[in-house]
Amino acid sequence: MNRSSTHAALVLAVRPYGESNREAVFLTEDAGLVRATVFGGPKSKLRAYVAPFHSGEMFIYHDPVKNYRKITDFAVDAWRPGLRESLERSYAAAAIAETVIAGFGGGGSWPEAMALCRDTLDALDGADETGCRSSVVRFLWKWTELLGAAPDLECCIDCACFPPPDEVVWYSRSDGGIVCGRCAPRRDRAGSVELGPGARAWLRAVTGADAKTALRIGAASLPLRQAKEAALAAAAEAVGTRLKTWNLLGGN
Ligand SMILES: [Zn+2]
Repeated sequence: MNRSSTHAALVLAVRPYGESNREAVFLTEDAGLVRATVFGGPKSKLRAYVAPFHSGEMFIYHDPVKNYRKITDFAVDAWRPGLRESLERSYAAAAIAETVIAGFGGGGSWPEAMALCRDTLDALDGADETGCRSSVVRFLWKWTELLGAAPDLECCIDCACFPPPDEVVWYSRSDGGIVCGRCAPRRDRAGSVELGPGARAWLRAVTGADAKTALRIGAASLPLRQAKEAALAAAAEAVGTRLKTWNLLGGN
């Protein structure tokens, strides 16, 4: 049995493990989430390579008897140093990593999950404060799509009508879909998020574009806030919980 293998991988999280070693969590393209030990003290090269949000080719050794995995090398192809240059960027990247871990790496759609993460992190590497927020909102919406739980923004779940683009609709947290302006009065507003025409148009535009292009699609603060609330609600349904790192997204 071949105990060594290589994988296209992204480092999601690293934590201390034992006296001078670390344990890292990776998203891989062909094996989903992988946890492995990284040996070496603060001056080790490998430790510098295996740092959050680096991606590249991971070389891993697996002992199936002890069910033990260690990283033997990591050839970094993207370092993304900009993610460490501002608090907003590191919060945004951490929110993405936590979402991926909570969503089991994308539930089997690993190549798509990897492409979405890499694309989003590359955009975040140079994003300003608003860009960080909008990138995470876009990411959360795309992540619910990946998990097969994306809300349909075009069709009312109560009457099956297609509200015109200029109509205000409500996103229902409990039903995971939108309710049109005529059906909304019959529903409990507390469980709903208002989505104005701007928020729906913005979500449609950014989810149809790559992450860097999406950064150039501006949004006023109200539509972005509405889109954020709907994305957080949809992602919480898809992942099964509202993650702590999402609360660090500012702009309320
Ligand atoms: Zn309706």
